[in-house]
Amino acid sequence: MARIVMKFGGTSMAGMERIRNVAARVKYVVEQGNEVAVVVSAMAGETDRLVNFCREASALYDPAEYDVVVAAGEQITSGLLAMTLKAMGVEARSWLGWQLPIRTVETHAKARISEIETDALLAAMTSGQVAVIPGFQGMMEDGRISTLGRGGSDTSAVAVAAAVKADRCDIYTDVDGVYTTDPRIVSRARKLGMVTYEEMLELASVGSKVLQTRSVALAMKERVRVQVLSSFEAPTQNDIPGTLIVSEDEIEDSSMERQLITGIAHDKNEAKIIVTRVPDKPGAVASIFGPLAEASINVDMIIQNDSKDNEETDVTFTVPRADLARSVDILEARKDAIGFRRIITDAEVAKISVVGVGMRSHAGVAALMFQTLAERGINIEAISTSEIKVSVLIDEDETELAVRVLHTAYGLDAEQTAA
Ligand code: ADP
Ligand code: ASP
Ligand code: MG
Repeated sequence: MARIVMKFGGTSMAGMERIRNVAARVKYVVEQGNEVAVVVSAMAGETDRLVNFCREASALYDPAEYDVVVAAGEQITSGLLAMTLKAMGVEARSWLGWQLPIRTVETHAKARISEIETDALLAAMTSGQVAVIPGFQGMMEDGRISTLGRGGSDTSAVAVAAAVKADRCDIYTDVDGVYTTDPRIVSRARKLGMVTYEEMLELASVGSKVLQTRSVALAMKERVRVQVLSSFEAPTQNDIPGTLIVSEDEIEDSSMERQLITGIAHDKNEAKIIVTRVPDKPGAVASIFGPLAEASINVDMIIQNDSKDNEETDVTFTVPRADLARSVDILEARKDAIGFRRIITDAEVAKISVVGVGMRSHAGVAALMFQTLAERGINIEAISTSEIKVSVLIDEDETELAVRVLHTAYGLDAEQTAA
């Protein structure tokens, strides 16, 4: 017997037929003698629909009310799954974020889980009742409902698994594991049997949305055993392995020869800003990035171009696309203080990243990336690196081509195409 948290994403919960399929899978795991909690997402497309209502209601909507609206999608699916389980003869009940409660802190719309009360949850689970928990939602210190940021149900699942000390947290989604790149873009992407927490964290943070970045960070910190699986395989084929997220020593022991690069990710959610003819003197760059930081805008890639006459320079950087207009407003309002000539923006860019712990001990990873893109005539607009990642910024139209040629160049292509 094991204690298992099962999480089902939006595509897996989209409609009653799929919910019945999920219930059948949960029933199968319960009948194997396991204690089960299930975390569910809203039906695919539902959260987008609710977000659009908020935007229509007011351009400057109150984030606390936004949370009231968007948390509703998960409330519906948790109730429907509990009902369906009961109809199949499985003891179950829903536990909403505020009922457990799942306590959260900081900001509405991107709240952080601080604590999950487990008394009721554990009492239910140990008595054989399946606890169905809506993902994505929690409760602020003042009792108001909160949400965890888009894709947050993964984080809910890992947090519940950590809180109940689950043996496993199984993330069921619409692909059967973590691949070397998004299998919807590269048909020759290869499924990874295992991936380290560190690599998964880096892959998620540069755009592999198969897991929310914060869920991986939490799993790494709390040592939760996370597995990514398909919800569309029949329950009896439970032995079809997904991808296990493991610590580095586990992977070292089990594979003699590691790939240099684990995966390639793309992200179309950034936009480029060029601030031209900034005075080339101490404090100039601080006067640009200080106000952006104060407005909680995350600047990612940065290049300060070489100053031609040693008096002025161009500064290029990226911000989340959603923050582009606000970033420009902030900088324009400080034009005189910063002393730039003009601001040029480009939202049609994509960030392509190659990730792998093998990079630490091998030179030439970045060079191969630049050379491969150059051979295809793809221009690199910015570069950033970390110990286990190289990212480049390119024209958005070239995203698919870039990911595909890099996948081949790093020897990641599968013999057969992904299903
Ligand atoms: P869910 O609704 O189950 O949370 P998501 O849509 O959030 O599912 O995440 C699953 C999707 O992640 C897949 O359909 C796939 O297109 C995408 N994805 C991106 N990168 C990868 C990758 N490296 N491996 C697997 N899937 C990936
Ligand atoms: N329903 C939420 C979203 O679409 C949370 C999730 O599915 O993880 O972002
Ligand atoms: Mg998701």
